[in-house]
Amino acid sequence: MTQKKTKTQAQTLVVGAGLSGAVIARRLAEEKNESVLVIDRREQIGGNCFDQKIEGITIHRYGAHIFHTDDQQVWTWLSRFTCWHEYRHQVQAQLRDQLIFLPFNLNALEQCFAPEKVTLMKKTLKQHFASGQKVTILQLRQIQDPVLQELADYVYEHIFLHYTLKQWECRLEDLDMSVAARVPVVFDRDDHYFANRYQAIPAQGYTAMIEKILDHPLVQVRLDTDYQSLKNQVFRHVYFTGAIDEFGDYCFGPLPYRSLEFVNQKLDQEYYQAVSVVNYPETQEFTRIIEHKHFLAEKTPYTWITREYPRCFVLGQGERYYPIQNQANQELYRRYRDHLASHQDITFLGRLGDYQYYDMDKAVARALNLELR
Ligand code: FAD
Ligand code: UDP
Repeated sequence: MTQKKTKTQAQTLVVGAGLSGAVIARRLAEEKNESVLVIDRREQIGGNCFDQKIEGITIHRYGAHIFHTDDQQVWTWLSRFTCWHEYRHQVQAQLRDQLIFLPFNLNALEQCFAPEKVTLMKKTLKQHFASGQKVTILQLRQIQDPVLQELADYVYEHIFLHYTLKQWECRLEDLDMSVAARVPVVFDRDDHYFANRYQAIPAQGYTAMIEKILDHPLVQVRLDTDYQSLKNQVFRHVYFTGAIDEFGDYCFGPLPYRSLEFVNQKLDQEYYQAVSVVNYPETQEFTRIIEHKHFLAEKTPYTWITREYPRCFVLGQGERYYPIQNQANQELYRRYRDHLASHQDITFLGRLGDYQYYDMDKAVARALNLELR
């Protein structure tokens, strides 16, 4: 006679073998001695951090992934599972007639304006901002000064307006302020994209790091498995890193997301561009080109590049990459969260479960600081 599984006998289920799922599974195994089943509907682990080495080049399959954080706890925890390749990210923007580094800084200012204008702008900036200060383009646009308005209009028009329309199909002003804050305007000469204390790429790639996190005798991983197929099984607790609206059967309507299409190309030349990411904030349909070999300084006579085309996310097609951060969507998310809070045996986390634009460090911090059930 088959015995009905009781709750106490059942395993804990983690839905999603991305970074959030891997961290929570490891903690359950190590800290609670819990037997954990991790499932993912994809055929590989890693979620959007998934990378794979092809002919000597580590390809970031779901867009450029650069680890950067000021969070000592996150850095120390991940360092148990990987050695790091030191890497300081640089991003260039291809404007109509020149290539500048982002974030827009004093070097870019000197490239984009005539010398007399530069002198005047720098003098005016000094009256308003401290050296090294960062402001969002939206804050810069608020300053009632004709000289700074000219600067702000230029940066807005050439760097942010069209890129944001392509990426989000709306203006920067219509998104949560945190989106504009990701790429500030900086009054210094540092040509690096991030200012964080720790910046690096896992030396063997993200997939290898996540594989190590999942490598514990109490953790079992099953791929090509959708939560739908296990929905009726009893688990002691479920940690769900998939989309919260999907879990809630879209009872309040779908949460809006943006998707991407990645178009890969192998080129018979050593390098295509000087840095790993070049943004195209103006006319082109794509937003950026990634050249993968720069991440781990891999040497090959050929190269692989990827063009990133923003797309609408349509249910049943493509992947959810970006939760669209605005007030209406946050309210809709909170409706799902509050509605599902009555399910005592499920915890949501991750970029999709929390409907948050988490960078990797924030996703890890969330999984590390979650109280285990
Ligand atoms: P995910 O990686 O999305 O993993 C969720 C997993 O759950 C997926 O594998 C999915 O298949 C699985 N899943 C979902 N639903 C189900 C279901 N019903 N059944 C089974 N499995 C399911 N962060 C940085 O710090 N630096 C960067 O440079 C950076 N670049 C990025 C570039 C792009 C284009 C994108 C999209 C993100 C980038 N990020 C970056 C963010 C980073 O990808 C996320 O922080 C991280 O992947 C979050 O991990 P996660 O596990 O929460 O989600
Ligand atoms: N952004 C822009 N132009 C750029 C770079 C960024 O307008 O050249 C805006 C755009 O709205 C983008 C947001 O800033 O979505 C955040 O940029 P980030 O590079 O952090 O995007 P991610 O790497 O998360 O896709």
